[in-house]
Amino acid sequence: PQDQPPPDPSKKTLVILGTGWGSVSLLKKLDTENYNVIVISPRNYFLFTPLLPSCTVGTIEHRSIMEPIRNFLRHKKAAVKYYEAEATKIDYANKVIYVNDDSEIKGDVSTTEVPFDMLVVGVGAENATFGISGVKEHALFLKEVRDAQKIRNRIMDCIETATFKDQSESEVQRLLHMVVVGGGPTGVEFAGELQDFFNNDLQKWIPDIKDNFHVTLVEALPNVLPMFSKQLIEYTEKTFKEETITIRTKTMVKNVTDKYIEAESIGPDGKKVLQKIPYGLLVWATGNALRPIVKDLMSQIPAQKDSRRGLAVNEYLVVKGTENVWAVGDCAVANYAPTAQVAAQEGAFLAKMFNQMAKTHDIEAELADLSVRQETAPDKETRTKAFDEIKELQKRLRRVKSVNPFEYTHQGSLAYIGSEKAVADITWFEGNIASGGTLTYIFWRSAYLSMCFSSRNRILVCMDWVKSKVFGRDCSRV
Ligand code: FAD
Ligand code: NAD
Repeated sequence: PQDQPPPDPSKKTLVILGTGWGSVSLLKKLDTENYNVIVISPRNYFLFTPLLPSCTVGTIEHRSIMEPIRNFLRHKKAAVKYYEAEATKIDYANKVIYVNDDSEIKGDVSTTEVPFDMLVVGVGAENATFGISGVKEHALFLKEVRDAQKIRNRIMDCIETATFKDQSESEVQRLLHMVVVGGGPTGVEFAGELQDFFNNDLQKWIPDIKDNFHVTLVEALPNVLPMFSKQLIEYTEKTFKEETITIRTKTMVKNVTDKYIEAESIGPDGKKVLQKIPYGLLVWATGNALRPIVKDLMSQIPAQKDSRRGLAVNEYLVVKGTENVWAVGDCAVANYAPTAQVAAQEGAFLAKMFNQMAKTHDIEAELADLSVRQETAPDKETRTKAFDEIKELQKRLRRVKSVNPFEYTHQGSLAYIGSEKAVADITWFEGNIASGGTLTYIFWRSAYLSMCFSSRNRILVCMDWVKSKVFGRDCSRV
């Protein structure tokens, strides 16, 4: 077997799982020459998730918000190994990760083991379904590029099927009923984008669907966007009403079939009613669940036994009950919401810490060297010189070793709600500014544009915005 450059045995092997917000933010700031860095992820690109809802209707093309990991790694100072594979198991006791190449093309070897000295788990989360029957089989999710592509195609399939010759009125209504479950930001942003698609393009191009196309957002809690301030929740609900998106709050989906969902709500008499709601497209956005690999790792560590939502980490993001294992992002539980903002700050924190750790290591080696020199010094002058140098180095070591614990700085929450309006709860000095509307939408666009991974992404996103405005969104089904 051909194994290119052998890892430097004098350096520790740092394995990073995932190429999402947490891991890539770590890689961005990490001095890779200090470790043998290995990245393992089934996704060979970074995805700018905040703009993913726009890809479901073609406001933005998905490749505009993807950054190939290879492109990014080639700019690092020291070479980083990347394996396109899924980690299937972390064997904590033996410090080995089992990996599997799950892609279509497989070589003679498609499963192997990767040993590590240090490990960062940044595998994110999967979609929560709460074990509700039929969700996995019939609903579409919105987490990855492939999900957005599926949704885009399904929308058009429903529309083309609804306009098929001799379709009954009730079937047309079902096919054109677009149901979104989950009133968190993912569900709200998708519903807004979908209604935009209809208002701006579809109803002009396919007037037949005008009277029956309808978007419904179903939420179990009394309101949507629970993380936003009350006035922005009201503003969103009012805007949705104007856009003719129906919001059904206090409605819990209990069962899903291929043509309808069964949802429980409280009737006017205060009793629970179970209602069948027919749908053509069903998008399920009810938040996060643990990935099996994370569950399995937790089961190997007694200190994790009470953790439910992910890997419990301490203030330095060390997975509690382990040594040399850290976790970032949606798979870690550090009392913050599972957002890109949190994951990115956690990744940057770890990079800083690892850079400091490497410096510590270097200083300690230098100190050991100096002590020997001091002891074997031939004269007093050399001994004194070495002594002074040791004192200076010890001071530096103390400074380098004093890393403050991780502290998250919340910059605010932003969400697009359709018809060129957005809501924003922005942290400003000690206070909070809540705003909603078209100006906030301009702010939303510029904020996300500035946060895009690269200038290439930024230019592509801008071009997509102009393209969809000038020519309309592309409604072909591929
Ligand atoms: P991810 O970014 O999900 O990355 C996980 C990585 O791990 C991926 O590369 C994946 O391929 C890889 N992986 C998975 N399994 C394995 C395995 N077994 N082995 C190795 N690698 C594996 N947050 C905000 O703050 N603002 C927003 O506007 C916002 N908008 C969002 C819009 C949408 C549609 C979605 C779905 C989320 C949004 N979020 C937003 C949340 C944000 O995307 C997540 O909190 C963030 O992606 C978490 O980062 P992460 O690194 O933990 O995981
Ligand atoms: P979420 O957890 O924020 O919201 C899911 C919603 O689904 C909840 O309100 C819940 O009550 C509802 N729900 C659960 N089960 C249900 C059922 N059976 N029937 C009806 N409703 C049900 O999920 P999300 O929107 O996917 O967001 C996940 C994470 O990503 C969050 O931390 C969020 O802040 C972040 N995110 C942020 C942005 C943004 O900042 N613009 C955008 C997308 C996601």
